[in-house]
Amino acid sequence: MSAGGTAVETAAAGSTLERYSMLTCPDCGHRAREEMPTDACLFFHECAGCAVRLRPLPGDCCVFCSYGSVPCPPVQSGCCSA
Ligand SMILES: [Zn+2]
Repeated sequence: MSAGGTAVETAAAGSTLERYSMLTCPDCGHRAREEMPTDACLFFHECAGCAVRLRPLPGDCCVFCSYGSVPCPPVQSGCCSA
């Protein structure tokens, strides 16, 4: 009888990136917590409050970088920062 515990590893593949960002609409101030794709930049986001289509500000790669509380994963990992 072996009291073998299941070797559960919390190996998250070395990913400590923040997956969620709080988007704040510049028009109406509506805030929405959105999950970010880790392998792509989200260019457009429709506000759930006023239905305006958010676009990145000049120099930003996606709406999370412009309006989110957290920059997008590619920027967090430093692969698409200027
Ligand atoms: Zn809005």
